[in-house]
Amino acid sequence: MKFQRHREEIVLFDAAGKPLESWVEIRVHPVTGETSRIIHVPLKKVTLPDLKGMAAKTREGCPFCPEQLSHATPRFREPFLREWPMKQGESVLIPNRFPYDRYCALIILTEDHYVPLDAWDVQRIMDGLSIAQEFLRRVMDHDTSTQSFSLNWNFAPHSGSSILHPHLQLSAGSFATNRARRLLDASYLGMLKGRDIIAEWIEAEQTEGARWCGQIGLWHIILAFAPRGRFFEINLIHESLGSFPALEEEDLETLAKGVRNALNFVTAMGFVSMNLSLFSPLRNEGTFHPIVSISPRACIGPFQISDISFQMLIDEFFALFLPEEVARRFQNSLAS
Ligand SMILES: [Zn+2]
Repeated sequence: MKFQRHREEIVLFDAAGKPLESWVEIRVHPVTGETSRIIHVPLKKVTLPDLKGMAAKTREGCPFCPEQLSHATPRFREPFLREWPMKQGESVLIPNRFPYDRYCALIILTEDHYVPLDAWDVQRIMDGLSIAQEFLRRVMDHDTSTQSFSLNWNFAPHSGSSILHPHLQLSAGSFATNRARRLLDASYLGMLKGRDIIAEWIEAEQTEGARWCGQIGLWHIILAFAPRGRFFEINLIHESLGSFPALEEEDLETLAKGVRNALNFVTAMGFVSMNLSLFSPLRNEGTFHPIVSISPRACIGPFQISDISFQMLIDEFFALFLPEEVARRFQNSLAS
């Protein structure tokens, strides 16, 4: 597999006639064919929200804190989801009062109202993933028409989260999201031609080495060649074909460690907010490698400019960091 990139060198002149050199690199996602642009623009200071102050202001009356949770939460109608609340360690799964799919749940990850991005322990993340798996297995068993699911995490307000208390969002139904469909379809179409595109992608990254940051268990840690988001995107890609609901406990634990390491690195890069999404088939285990994607989020400058602009309408992202430079820093942080 060859990574496709097109670099444009651009020269302008300043008012005094002196050349101003710049460049843009248009990169093609190795699986979906989507393009991203790496742009040569200096990063202005990101605005870090006062999350401690926000935690103090929002703690009282928080619907996810233990004292509210027991009596203020709706229940599922389906008999196979009636066992309530579903719990694992500190993680509690509840219905999402504002559903966006046939089955829509929130997984409250901690009893603590606020956990900084670099203060996560593996067990808490693993319990959240494990309860998500249990929920999906029940849905699959009892509603055979479900075909897809989506597992996501908005962390802190600049990521789009409205409640600071840490929680995952989990949904299942008949229709995959756009990004999941593009990834899954591309891998499936490759299979029909006798190719495992994601295995080829992992192998090519490992051979080139510029963005591959090692393995944790069977998960490969790779800085996305064609990232989504304003800054960079970390991918954890499973070495084998499979699905999230069918992952073994050991795989969940190494995934949780990989996520914890990624969150620590995102913090070390100066961010306090991020989005995480997990891509996997619900049922078909032979056509895709589960992938987790993590991208930092931040507002910029004193006026808190959003990190997403018209990019949301054109469905293409302009990243400010070279993935290879970020990977070098991630590799060094893992080595130290
Ligand atoms: Zn809370």
